[in-house]
Amino acid sequence: MSVFSHPAYDNHEEVAFYHDAKSGLKAIIAVHNTNLGPSLGGCRMWPYADDSEALNDVLRLSRGMTYKSAMAGLKLGGGKSVIIGDPRKEKTPELLRAMGDFLNTLGGRYITAEDSGTSVADMKIIGERTEFVSGVTAGQEHGGDPSPSTAYGVFVGLKAAVAHRWGRTDLNGLKVSIQGVGNVGFRLAKLLKDAGAELFVTDIFQDNIDRAVNELGATAVTADEIFDLDVDLFAPCALGAILNDNTIERLKVGAIAGAANNQLAEERHAAALREKGILYAPDYVINAGGIIDVYYQQLGDYNPEQVKAHIESIGTTMQEVFQRADETGETTAHVADRIAEERFGHKDTLNGADSAAA
Ligand code: NAD
Repeated sequence: MSVFSHPAYDNHEEVAFYHDAKSGLKAIIAVHNTNLGPSLGGCRMWPYADDSEALNDVLRLSRGMTYKSAMAGLKLGGGKSVIIGDPRKEKTPELLRAMGDFLNTLGGRYITAEDSGTSVADMKIIGERTEFVSGVTAGQEHGGDPSPSTAYGVFVGLKAAVAHRWGRTDLNGLKVSIQGVGNVGFRLAKLLKDAGAELFVTDIFQDNIDRAVNELGATAVTADEIFDLDVDLFAPCALGAILNDNTIERLKVGAIAGAANNQLAEERHAAALREKGILYAPDYVINAGGIIDVYYQQLGDYNPEQVKAHIESIGTTMQEVFQRADETGETTAHVADRIAEERFGHKDTLNGADSAAA
């Protein structure tokens, strides 16, 4: 398994491996870039098939965090950690405490938070050993869970997309399809419903569909039908790589704005969307509400009004991305990468070369 020559290495500042024999912890922390501040990103626990799958995931994700935080205007760099193991079977308090010890070895260059396979409760256990953990602010309405802030940020960014695509500031009667009505998707659906939108939802869990139908009057569709609907806007809020050769051909929407990470299966799919006249809100720009929330939690000075105002700046950033894409003819995804690189001082951008960031 190579590290420095790994395809996803991309100038990472540091990659640390840790094994605690007593608890069985095997983990990797990747620090991509700290030009703007200490790196912050979630801790994912997943039963990776092998070490190289875990390394690939952590490198890809930590790089993504550099771009996300830079675009969100945060004084943070990008980092991520992965614990190799099944969270349902292998997660123990001892293992989480050992993860806290691992975090301490980086001396604050990386700060962790919850992610897939870890929870706020897990972060609290990690926090017994280290101060370099966020997303655990006690006494908050949402107990440290960033999902409500993510949903609000997506709502703000979605409104910017609607304004740019259709020149309107209200969402009355706008038909929106939502793939995945979980933590973020359901909250987004509620905000959209309150703003007068008509909702079409799907999920793989019937309970989640029923909640959206019963509480929000949404129309339920199957997991496959969601791509063929004659609606205005599609909000992917479930899984990655959902914008691919198969789905882009089927989509009849004018805009895509949703919370899911890594929505484009490949970089070229941004161009495919542009060619079809579909306005794409780059995922890491629109879903930054959560990292903004976690940032203020980490500062230890959580002022809800300040957090809300910062999340609302996602709308302005999104407008900037859309306008620059119109002016240059580039895809919105490419424009977002370029703006982020200007902000964190990517070496290729500084050299004036085309960085071709994914
Ligand atoms: P979640 O697990 O609560 O919700 C995801 C929902 O999608 C679940 O209800 C799941 O059943 C459904 N789903 C999964 N596969 C599906 C499929 N094929 N078709 C239809 N529905 C499907 O997760 P979440 O926290 O709401 O996050 C949603 C997305 O947003 C993820 O991609 C996540 O990485 C991203 N995201 C979340 C946050 C956050 O603060 N939670 C922040 C940034 C990005």
